[in-house]
Amino acid sequence: MNKNGIRVRFAPSPTGYLHIGGARTALYDWLLARKSGGQFILRIEDTDRNRFVPDAVEDIKSSLRWLGLPWDEGPDAGGAAGPYFQSERLELYQKYAEDLVRAGKAYYCFCTPERLEEMRKRQEAANQPSGYDRHCRALTAEEVEKHLAAGEKYVVRFKVPLAGKIQVRDELRGEMVFDYATLDDFVILKSDGFPTYHLASVVDDHLMGISHVIRGEEWIISLPRHFLLYEALGWEPPAFVHLPIFLSPDGKGKLSKRHGATGVREFREKGYLPEALVNFLLLLGWHPANDQELFTLDEAVEAFSVERISTSPVSFSLDKLDWYNGIYIRRLSPEELAGRCLPFLQRDGLLPDPCPPEQFAYLVRLMPLVQERIKLLSEISQAVGYFLRDEIEPPEPALLIGKKGTAEETAVILDEVIKAITPVTDFGEEHLEQILRALAERLALKPGQLFMPVRVAVTGQTATPGLFELLAALGKEKVINRLQQAITVLRKG
Ligand code: GLU
Repeated sequence: MNKNGIRVRFAPSPTGYLHIGGARTALYDWLLARKSGGQFILRIEDTDRNRFVPDAVEDIKSSLRWLGLPWDEGPDAGGAAGPYFQSERLELYQKYAEDLVRAGKAYYCFCTPERLEEMRKRQEAANQPSGYDRHCRALTAEEVEKHLAAGEKYVVRFKVPLAGKIQVRDELRGEMVFDYATLDDFVILKSDGFPTYHLASVVDDHLMGISHVIRGEEWIISLPRHFLLYEALGWEPPAFVHLPIFLSPDGKGKLSKRHGATGVREFREKGYLPEALVNFLLLLGWHPANDQELFTLDEAVEAFSVERISTSPVSFSLDKLDWYNGIYIRRLSPEELAGRCLPFLQRDGLLPDPCPPEQFAYLVRLMPLVQERIKLLSEISQAVGYFLRDEIEPPEPALLIGKKGTAEETAVILDEVIKAITPVTDFGEEHLEQILRALAERLALKPGQLFMPVRVAVTGQTATPGLFELLAALGKEKVINRLQQAITVLRKG
């Protein structure tokens, strides 16, 4: 065990917005840190300047915060092991690369891109495995000096032993053996002075005292290189845990953009709750000792253990995520749900920003009517739009009339409803129910024959919350105006 206790890092490259695969890694990192009283570190691996996306760092930070996974050290948080942006640590990587060259474990390579391209073509034509042919490995000190004096560009390559095997270890898969013959002399420092991922990752994991590296399975192939670097630098490697890949919902291949949203930001914009996404990701690669399916973050901390992380690929099922979302939406209090829905309603222009307290209070009142009906927060505008708008589009006559009646009969029914409710002072749910049931009886109609046209007239929709509660929530003035509008529509046709 590391002398500093458990220290885990999430090390995204800001080459794009936070992916759900990255979010799962961050979640498992965070859980292990919390469970063990250790630290969760956010490190930005921004050494690939060509693929740098300027607002990616902001997206990564805000997505982690939204998911409820704050970091103990890293950007904004600071910490003794900083800086936490690799682009601010270049001198460190250069120093270690130089140390390795001096120790005879790495070397300068002056091969031009043209030569490397030619080499690649030659290997391809001869059906040989691709990889650097070690051309510069044999350069003498004098030759190196000559190239340097001529101002030639160089990279630093690691000297992989020419024969033999290396044993590496993953906490879930155990020992694995790789033949050196499968590795070429990989670059550790690029010609612009930036490190490659391999060097930067090893140097930082060591200097930051990382005890556990949790990352996606796609990095397993890097393990032999990382172990070689640890050995060459005389450092103890951390424990490595590689997470299973996500398969598409049909289980036929890797999850990709083709299958819909893959960025945390997209899930957020669609109206998934962070609680649901976290619960979903928790069980996408880890399983508890029992068959518990619902976990708050605290419960997840309690239950989590590295040993229960799976090594077989996991299918990404949106249906499951939707199921979780419905559950977590129903768990919220009306106030909380209204607060979560507010940005969506503001986005859709249904409520002002800032939202005045009386309008927010009205929104809270609507929540119990729709809480069971929405699966995504983004559905809220459709679900409560007719409450919040002063007016609605006049409904289609066909929707109002129903199967048996005529336009005029329906207009008469709605007219009777207006007459029955106009004098009413108690516009409460129960009172409205009494009045409308009595009216249906007096007009010799089945309740549905009266309720349906009223429902459509006041909402424009056929599927709505219970009629009486919705009438009460709409209020008398809107109800009467909309009934009148429907009558006009019916008599016009
Ligand atoms: N920067 C790498 C990535 O974006 C990190 C891999 C690792 O965790 O070592 O996935």
